[in-house]
Amino acid sequence: MSDLALYLGALLVLGVMGVTWAVRLAHHAPQHPAPAKFTAPDPDARWLVCDETKCGHMATQHRRDSCGGWTCAGCGTSKGGAL
Ligand SMILES: [Zn+2]
Repeated sequence: MSDLALYLGALLVLGVMGVTWAVRLAHHAPQHPAPAKFTAPDPDARWLVCDETKCGHMATQHRRDSCGGWTCAGCGTSKGGAL
């Protein structure tokens, strides 16, 4: 009889471990982040390389200025004509 009690006790411990393991997995399941918001690109802008070090030489948004060039939206530097 005591052998059966040991067996049932071990079975109970393993059962509790399984339940707590499943609860922990369910609690830490990855949650989906909010989807990124889409914004329509500005049709009058161009993504050009800015040669200024403060912009990091990355593609930055440039807008057409009154002189016919392109002005960087990041630093305000103007590029010349036909780009
Ligand atoms: Zn710039």
